[in-house]
Amino acid sequence: MSILVVLEQRAGVWNRMSFETLSAAQQLAKELGTSASAALLGQGMEALAAELTSKQLEKVYAVDHDLLQDYTPDAYTAALRQLIQQAQPSLVLFPHTYQVRDFLPKLATSLGKVAVSDVVAHRVASGELVLVRQLFQGKVNADLRFTGPGPNFASLQAGAYRADQIAAGSAPVEKFVPTLAAGEIRIKPLELFRESQRAVDLGAAEIIVSVGRGIKEADNIPIVQQLADVLGAELAASRPICDVGWLPMERQVGSSGQTVAPKMYLAVGISGAIQHLVGMKGSRTIVAINKDANAPIFEVADYGIVGDLFQVVPELVEALKKAK
Ligand SMILES: Cc1cc2nc3c(=O)[nH]c(=O)nc-3n(C[C@H](O)[C@H](O)[C@H](O)COP(=O)(O)OP(=O)(O)OC[C@H]3O[C@@H](n4cnc5c(N)ncnc54)[C@H](O)[C@@H]3O)c2cc1C
Repeated sequence: MSILVVLEQRAGVWNRMSFETLSAAQQLAKELGTSASAALLGQGMEALAAELTSKQLEKVYAVDHDLLQDYTPDAYTAALRQLIQQAQPSLVLFPHTYQVRDFLPKLATSLGKVAVSDVVAHRVASGELVLVRQLFQGKVNADLRFTGPGPNFASLQAGAYRADQIAAGSAPVEKFVPTLAAGEIRIKPLELFRESQRAVDLGAAEIIVSVGRGIKEADNIPIVQQLADVLGAELAASRPICDVGWLPMERQVGSSGQTVAPKMYLAVGISGAIQHLVGMKGSRTIVAINKDANAPIFEVADYGIVGDLFQVVPELVEALKKAK
């Protein structure tokens, strides 16, 4: 049993989820009594690989090739297949990024294996690894075990493991040059899409009032805006609210929005899907208002109000105004 963690960088900049996955790999290695190695792919990877030499890893594979300079699923899959054939890991872990979602199914299938995606936790039972992923919008947790020999594949959800718990150590770097031919890469990458500058920095807000689909329609947004105003809070939202344009994208919290950790996060009419939770569960105090007592948001909430937001929020606003 050995673990390989594949880290993600783009144009020499780490994806922060890489370090959460590295931390998970170290934790799993410890619990399973084995070792973890790390791999990064690109071109001219020396400087980034050197940053990993101070971590507790058996080895750092710098997978280097001109054809890996820009990400393509064909080149990444071919390079990783060759590395896996050489390193023979039994478990290969990835951060659950958009890039990984793009090529991991192809890589796993090409080796006749499955990939368990979106893992939020794990445990080791009688020496056997059990991975946990959520189903039905977080209402059910599924336990999964790999059967058969490795390599087995899994991607880990953002926020599931803590990057600040990475163990220090010393690791040698091994350069690995895969055999790649331009002819086998069917995609020609164009210029990277750049996001526009964000005008709202939710990360700096001390209090956030966040609204979800429970608000029903755009005309009702002022109801929660009033609550935000009386609390001196920033207004944020779950993804569907931003997708339909009721609030701007820059106010979206979650795996494809902003990650926030305010002193207080008040979730109004938000169910608590994993993609939302990973963006706000680090908040110091979480308050949830939801009419469904079984909504997953209550699992992370410190205080919960089970009720109709159209009744609860105006009453809360009045009470807060009186208390001022
Ligand atoms: C790749 C990917 C990335 C994603 N990224 C994000 C992301 O960054 N952020 C994000 O938020 N989501 C994201 N999602 C979507 C996510 O899976 C959920 O669909 C979304 O978070 C649900 O939003 P919601 O809680 O507002 O809506 P719903 O899940 O529809 O929940 C609405 C809640 O409102 C409650 N409610 C209804 N009426 C009332 C009322 N009158 N009073 C009180 N409560 C009421 C209901 O009980 C329910 O719990 C992503 C999904 C994918 C696949």
